[in-house]
Amino acid sequence: MLKDRFGRTHDYLRISLTDHCNFRCTYCMPQEDMQWMPHSRLMNAEELVRLAEIFVGQGIKKIRLTGGEPLVRKDFSKILESLSKLPVELTLTTNGVLIHHYIQDLKQAGVRSVNVSLDTLNPEKFRKLTRRDQFEQVWENIQLLIDEGFRVKINAVALHGLIEDELTGFIKLTENLPIHVRFIEFMPFQGNHWESKKVITAAEMLSLASKEFEFEKLYDEPHATAKKYKVSGYEGTFAFITTMSEHFCGDCNRLRLTADGKIKNCLFGSQELDLLGLLRKGEDVIPTIQQSVASKHAALGGQFSADYQKADPEKIQNRSMIKIGG
Ligand code: SAM
Ligand code: SF4
Repeated sequence: MLKDRFGRTHDYLRISLTDHCNFRCTYCMPQEDMQWMPHSRLMNAEELVRLAEIFVGQGIKKIRLTGGEPLVRKDFSKILESLSKLPVELTLTTNGVLIHHYIQDLKQAGVRSVNVSLDTLNPEKFRKLTRRDQFEQVWENIQLLIDEGFRVKINAVALHGLIEDELTGFIKLTENLPIHVRFIEFMPFQGNHWESKKVITAAEMLSLASKEFEFEKLYDEPHATAKKYKVSGYEGTFAFITTMSEHFCGDCNRLRLTADGKIKNCLFGSQELDLLGLLRKGEDVIPTIQQSVASKHAALGGQFSADYQKADPEKIQNRSMIKIGG
């Protein structure tokens, strides 16, 4: 069991399949000097599955595949099939633009829930945010996932000045669609030009939403990252991921494996320990996994305080989000 010094048991692993992506979201990837990792540095399918097996042996019960964009990996179906043989719940976070090619593979692998990122319902704004003109395809694919019976969560990064016009539209979507929209507070990563004034908090969004809707607070499961709400009578739900205004580190059960095979014990942590290097040398990786868990900080990777307004993005040592795997 992977228990840290604060008594938190880690049973959820997020694996980044690649740092490559077919979108260019401004809040996620560095706007200058983006260098893709060479393929030789990425875990190949066998290495990735072997490391996943070792993690499962250590008590991991849920694996989320992410990236970069996980679906740009040519061997995605092969990886998915191999991972589906492990005794874990498998899930996926994707920008959604390629998902129509993988519906049957996902079903066969037993994936029941998919997170799709969509920050705006306006095609023109979508083009500006992602630097790709693919709104229609993503929207069609969200409908397809719903029709095919997947539980669909929409991840919308909430940027001050942009999300205000979108809140009503997104919440209205939940009236007749069984979808779960989650507004994520904007987080600081290398090169993403984060400033505290670009953060809009859950409290501010709730106050805006309450002008239009009557809603109730729903129960949040243990380890949940999202605080859930529902407009009475609506089919779906909406939620806030309050990393900046009210972190949920006290209950964290998550570890990350980057596409180049480094274990990160926290999204915001600077520590990375190289599992792939050890695996390639034929060495035991388990002591290093345990070392990573043992050295996890109490909150926010030990890099900034709970008052996000005091965070200095220049001082945060971390990768860009696209290279970590959200
Ligand atoms: N490409 C996939 C996608 O877009 O869903 C998976 C990887 S992406 C890094 C995972 C999630 O991180 C997405 O929902 C994205 O919106 C979110 N994300 C990226 N940068 C972020 C930031 N600076 N603050 C908050 N969320 C962010
Ligand atoms: Fe790519 Fe996802 Fe980052 Fe957008 S949020 S650039 S789709 S990895």
